Amino acid sequence: MKRTKIANALASKELGETITVKGWVRTKRENKNVAFLAVNDGSTIHNIQVVVDVPNFDEEMLKSVTTGAGISVTGTLSPSLGQGQAVEIQATEIVVYGTADPETYPLQKKGHSLEFLRSIAHLRPRTNTFGAVFRVRHAMAYAIHKYFNDKGFAYLHTPVITASDAEGAGAMFQVTTLPLDNPPRREDGTINYEEDFFGKTTNLTVSGQLEGELAAMALSEIYTFGPTFRAENSNTPRHLAEFWMIEPEMAFFDITDNMDLAEDFLKYCVRYALEHCGDDLKFLNDMFDKELIERLKFILNNDFQRLTYTEAIAVLEASGKKWEFPVSWGVDLQAEHERYLVEEHYKKPVILIDYPKEIKAFYMKQNDDGKTVRAMDVLFPRIGEIIGGSQREENYDKLVARMQQVGIKEEDMWWYLDTRRFGSVPHSGFGLGFERLVLFVTGMANIRDVIPFPRTPMNAEF
Ligand code: ATP
Ligand code: MN
Repeated sequence: MKRTKIANALASKELGETITVKGWVRTKRENKNVAFLAVNDGSTIHNIQVVVDVPNFDEEMLKSVTTGAGISVTGTLSPSLGQGQAVEIQATEIVVYGTADPETYPLQKKGHSLEFLRSIAHLRPRTNTFGAVFRVRHAMAYAIHKYFNDKGFAYLHTPVITASDAEGAGAMFQVTTLPLDNPPRREDGTINYEEDFFGKTTNLTVSGQLEGELAAMALSEIYTFGPTFRAENSNTPRHLAEFWMIEPEMAFFDITDNMDLAEDFLKYCVRYALEHCGDDLKFLNDMFDKELIERLKFILNNDFQRLTYTEAIAVLEASGKKWEFPVSWGVDLQAEHERYLVEEHYKKPVILIDYPKEIKAFYMKQNDDGKTVRAMDVLFPRIGEIIGGSQREENYDKLVARMQQVGIKEEDMWWYLDTRRFGSVPHSGFGLGFERLVLFVTGMANIRDVIPFPRTPMNAEF
């Protein structure tokens, strides 16, 4: 018989129909005459209740239907007398696909800590929490593609393996096929990468931006959405070694256009979650973060505060706070500073622009003051930096001068510089850390809990 997804069964008005649902048993309550199974198939946070007339079923088979078992149930969709659901299934047939030994199945009824669930990341999607998180994650990925598609952006696939290390966004993972115990060497003893797979040293990408710029110089508006890798040894609740990044790049956009897009885009994603993930967000709100839904609505209803780095430093200096990292013009802002601006001072998202050029990448457009560049960071409550971006330097001479100052070789970047030699135009872009967005929208506290299989220092299990 055709399978009905549990989300559809729960919403169905066709009482009296015979349907088949398939899923995993969450709980089982029973007495001599009747058993109640709560079955979930991941299509919704809600379980469907299956009512089993015990005398009508094989005793051994029923015994094997325990928490975690994978089953198929056929029966009559009926109004439910129990509270919490409108309909239930009166079972006529049960097929057990796979049992789950109660002695060893780790997900028994009691709540488990998020730390424990990380150690069984292969099973945690079967919990309410991770079912909700991964459905929201999916919805955000879909919303992002829809947003850019509707605006006429082209989805550009940038390489995962790259020979350029100029972006400087973070430490890189090397990619090599050379034997590490006995690599080929030159006469001076250094490793001869000419014999490596690509004939040169290569790494996993930290950002698709530079290649994204090349395509924006032809397609006008593109975005990337792919995995990025940073070998930074920062064990924080907001950093992964492997994370997904969305990087739009737009020809003919200045920094104001860039800010407008970033704000509109983030609001779109939050609104999409509120409109399409209501049940999951309500669950996460009630379980983990009582202010989650309020906070999401707040994002929609407020303009982001826009100010310069220099103005932000003045606010931080005037705050009278004792900082772990002292503040003065020129320092890179730390999470404590970003969160003060957002959560205590302005009490709304903040977009900071015009950062000192020394703390930002070489490709950012230089301001006339000679000290700052047209960088743009979007700061969110609880998260800190969620987006980093800039208007790009489109002037060939200025770009080369900056590259020389920071020691990037022109010959390594000839292809990038060509865009400034041939038909260079003003352009801008930014990078959104996908997991930081999912972190914000789900209200989870640790970035390891919003990606199915987190990669962090000393951890690549599963
Ligand atoms: P941070 O200062 O938080 O380390 P960053 O300045 O290194 O961030 P960018 O290089 O501007 O970040 O990257 C763009 C976006 O990618 C960031 O705004 C953030 O949302 C996300 N991001 C950066 N590093 C990580 C990471 N290690 N794990 C998850 N997301 C990240
Ligand atoms: Mn970083």
